[in-house]
Amino acid sequence: SLFRGAAFHISVAKPTGLPAAAGPEIAFAGRSNAGKSSAINTLVGHTRLAFVSKTPGRTQLINYFKLVKGGFLVDLPGYGFAQVPPEVRRAWAGLIERYLKERESLVGLVLIMDSRHPLTELDWNMIQWFSQSGKPMHVLLTKADKLTRSAQASTLADVRNQLSGMGDQVTVQLFSSLKKTGVDEVENVVAPWLTA
Ligand code: GDP
Repeated sequence: SLFRGAAFHISVAKPTGLPAAAGPEIAFAGRSNAGKSSAINTLVGHTRLAFVSKTPGRTQLINYFKLVKGGFLVDLPGYGFAQVPPEVRRAWAGLIERYLKERESLVGLVLIMDSRHPLTELDWNMIQWFSQSGKPMHVLLTKADKLTRSAQASTLADVRNQLSGMGDQVTVQLFSSLKKTGVDEVENVVAPWLTA
């Protein structure tokens, strides 16, 4: 398994603090509270690994986790967090934007969305903006355990349909950190990103 056993590597507070590229990077992004930390913990197989940055005031960090087989999982700060002043929010956006736009070792983006509220305006902004990079995106519709089976199926179909204009640059799946479902599917989608 691709992510299992990944270890914390470093935290980055400013674009100038990014480490020298040392392998392909898969970034994880999403609205605050969408379930990104839980998804990373589930994929990596630790209970609290990705929560190190969740204390208020530390959320603006980019956290690197080193994958066992080489390359990195890069945990980007959650976007759209309401409780912070606009100037702080702009600084976070600046850090994320610089990273996503300029990082050559970045090979693809995993976008976390709450399956009950997928494709918010902020998510669309991210998808449309990042699509210019030409790099692949994979959407995890997480907290799928909160939906009935039929709602899961219709949400998946609806989100795929809404993103169909992006062609194969964007893929979509259901995920649950609570039930640990969807792990193999994520790994099957992103593994080729590391070797392309
Ligand atoms: P983040 O801000 O995107 O990192 O979100 P968190 O991972 O901290 O999750 C936000 C909230 O959603 C927490 O209360 C989690 O326990 C809950 N949560 C996250 N993933 C799941 C899931 O797959 N199922 C359920 N039922 N709750 C989840």
